Amino acid sequence: MDCLFCKIIAGEIPSTKVYESENVLAFKDINPMAPVHILIIPKIHIDGANALDESNVGVVSEIMLTARKLAEEFGLDDGWRIVTNVGEHGGQTVKHLHFHLLGGKKLSVELA
Ligand code: AMP
Ligand code: ZN
Repeated sequence: MDCLFCKIIAGEIPSTKVYESENVLAFKDINPMAPVHILIIPKIHIDGANALDESNVGVVSEIMLTARKLAEEFGLDDGWRIVTNVGEHGGQTVKHLHFHLLGGKKLSVELA
């Protein structure tokens, strides 16, 4: 499949990994929007949040828990944000489900 993040998972495209388990990979965003900007993704290909169903509950829960642990590891004691963009209006550019973990500065309150 011609998917950028599947290629990162397969090691065909390099990334700066910060966490890996059987089901989840986390790596630094190549174009960081904050001092800490990490992408957390499932290792199975899921197009995006619109494609989630009951079978994905486990991996999504693991991603949320991974975010909490990485926030602690990266010292985001003053707060952080987790975001997933969906579709064209949501600003999704990579069609493999991913969650942005952002922190390390006071983030903009603008959500839209
Ligand atoms: P989104 O716009 O929500 O689809 O987010 C896609 C994110 O992937 C953007 O923040 C990009 O900077 C990031 N990105 C694109 N290519 C790479 C790459 N090769 N390694 C790491 N992050 C990437
Ligand atoms: Zn993929």
